[in-house]
Amino acid sequence: MKSYYKLCVLIALVVSGYTNPIAPPADEDRESIAENYLSRLYGLPQQSSSGTERRSNAMSLRLKEMQQFFGLSITGKLDEETMKVMKKPRCGVPDVAAYSTFAGDYKWKKHDLTYRIENYTPDMSEAEVDDSIRRALQLWADVTPLRFTRIYSGTADIMISFVVGDHRDGYPFDGPNGFLAHAFPPFEGIGGDAHFDDDETFLFRSPQGYNLFLVAAHEFGHSLGLEHSQDPGALMYPTYVFRDIDTFSLPQDDVNGIQSLYGPNPNVNPGDPKPTPAITPNTCDPKLVLDAVTMFRGEMIFFKGSFFWRSYSQSTTVEQHLIKSFWPEIPEHIDAAFESPLQDKVFLIKGEKVWALYGYDIAQGYPKSLSMFNLPKKVKKIDAVLYDEASYKILFFVDRQVYSYDEQTSRMEKGYPKPLEVVFSGMTGKVNAAFQNKGFNYLFSGSKMFEFGSYNNKLFRVLNNNYFLPC
Ligand SMILES: [Zn+2]
Ligand SMILES: [Zn+2]
Repeated sequence: MKSYYKLCVLIALVVSGYTNPIAPPADEDRESIAENYLSRLYGLPQQSSSGTERRSNAMSLRLKEMQQFFGLSITGKLDEETMKVMKKPRCGVPDVAAYSTFAGDYKWKKHDLTYRIENYTPDMSEAEVDDSIRRALQLWADVTPLRFTRIYSGTADIMISFVVGDHRDGYPFDGPNGFLAHAFPPFEGIGGDAHFDDDETFLFRSPQGYNLFLVAAHEFGHSLGLEHSQDPGALMYPTYVFRDIDTFSLPQDDVNGIQSLYGPNPNVNPGDPKPTPAITPNTCDPKLVLDAVTMFRGEMIFFKGSFFWRSYSQSTTVEQHLIKSFWPEIPEHIDAAFESPLQDKVFLIKGEKVWALYGYDIAQGYPKSLSMFNLPKKVKKIDAVLYDEASYKILFFVDRQVYSYDEQTSRMEKGYPKPLEVVFSGMTGKVNAAFQNKGFNYLFSGSKMFEFGSYNNKLFRVLNNNYFLPC
């Protein structure tokens, strides 16, 4: 805990601009945001009299560590992607074990733990706070031998409080957004305690504000000895993402983590319904079947379940994110996606609804109905869409049929639908996803990807569907 305290008394992170991704912060703002972020979370020493060159070397080194943790391109520079991550609301506990007390050997020596709610936030009713805290602890109890008992006086193992600003533990909060909460790993005294920044708006169910159950569940992971995870699907990922709390169960990465400390729950009856923990899709999985693929302003975007990967042509790394961490309103498990260079928009289709993205924003007036493309009424679900840049034609794959829509005239082309194998000779299976890139059409079917020339639709190669996604 000594090193934990070394980090203290640093200027709080300023994140006033984080809700407005359009206006990039001025350079001095970027520098100070990065300074504060890296000092607080990545062990960057405080501003000292050391030379500016040494300072910028130290900064670049910590920046690279941070970029590596989040799976960003490791540039050591304050690029747009890095700034975006730094401005996301998050937990105040450092990400790298070396910069916190989380060296991996903190765990409770007992299984029966107590908790006490010391005070309440005015944002929610007391019953809602009680319920959120109870369910957050139960998530961990469900998969371990740990049991939690609430006490109403005296010192509990896990003391829970809502505090603002400097609350005398060396880790001041920073007003709205930025750091939402923090918690201490298991040890005597303050160990296990969880503090929530009451300058945030904590809510019970609404996707606005911050969901107390989700924030608390993450913090209790720390209270029990877990560090941050690099798995973007994990509850222990450092940044906050709203998730559907009705269907939320502890993701597999978190189950693995907590069971490595305490083992599984011995009281599970074989007949009990088992929650299926969400597994983050992996590009090395030979059974991976993609939902949709599209270009997105020069990047390739691959959708799968609750996640997407993005790949830049200049970079060998791919980033993986939860869809909800970029676009909370976009549904998971989308059917099809395509980019229209004519409109500079990316369209996402699920069922009979169509969303349009304009950069990181959802375009006004969306979602719209699938009928905007004048498809026959009987078409209720699209398997994949391919946009042909040369002709402005949008091909819709529906079962083994292909429809063609002319974006310039806003009409379905005559003579369609045509059988799939007539348009793409050699294509026999159902198409799951499709996109066009550098003169080739790529059709994804199961775990394979079929490469066709975009001018002659001639089949060139059959590749694995993770061809563009390094494993
Ligand atoms: Zn955390
Ligand atoms: Zn605190």
